[in-house]
Amino acid sequence: MNWNLHFLGVGAAHAVELGSSSAVLERDGAPLLLIDCGPDTLDRYVAAYGDVPPALFITHTHMDHVGGMERLFFRLWFDEARRGRTRLFVHAALMSWLQARVADYPGVLAEGGVNFWEAFQLIPCHRGFWLDGQWFDVFPTRHHLPQTSFGLALGGSFAYTGDTRPVPEMLARYAAGTELVAHDCGLVGNPSHTGIDDIEREYPQALRGRLRLYHYGSVADGAALAARGYAIAAAGERIALPPPAAPRPDAG
Ligand SMILES: [Zn+2]
Repeated sequence: MNWNLHFLGVGAAHAVELGSSSAVLERDGAPLLLIDCGPDTLDRYVAAYGDVPPALFITHTHMDHVGGMERLFFRLWFDEARRGRTRLFVHAALMSWLQARVADYPGVLAEGGVNFWEAFQLIPCHRGFWLDGQWFDVFPTRHHLPQTSFGLALGGSFAYTGDTRPVPEMLARYAAGTELVAHDCGLVGNPSHTGIDDIEREYPQALRGRLRLYHYGSVADGAALAARGYAIAAAGERIALPPPAAPRPDAG
């Protein structure tokens, strides 16, 4: 088996030309899991794969990460073969936020008679979840209020931070081996996001060598990060991953 992380978008919220940050985990060339669904993500996904995603994980509920979910609802609901089949993994602490952001608006369909979540197979999670025989760890990150943003890790293979300040304690726990670490990073940090100076202060050299930086502000910012010696991800890029390790004994 071969595993890839396919970045659909790598931009900060205002970096429209880079796409909303999202990625697809591929196994043997087939999409297994989409991470986040911003306003442009579904178009990019369908252009790449010709279908809707089989599974989706949401890191947090800022609109550049969930703004495409209403359109995904319509795609799923009006396709009887797909309706209710896309698994949606959401940390339990995010559910009330996600409900308010995308599912509470009255009249999901003008005709009535439909609940938003009936289009999906909603799977709340806490420590992580199983998907097609693999255990995925879900861990809290640092992006605004506590317990409102979460990263994802597949042991041995990769971690994806979502939007966050540095989380050395989490990466030491969930991505301490061979994992590629896709990490939020711009040229300059702020109270919501990581900057390159934060990376250099917070993370040891061995971890910095496994980083792929995304969620930067522009093409020029990406080039500047690369010029400082860091690997960046580009929109549309597929990055080969190490194969997952066997699930830990305490998984699940
Ligand atoms: Zn955010």
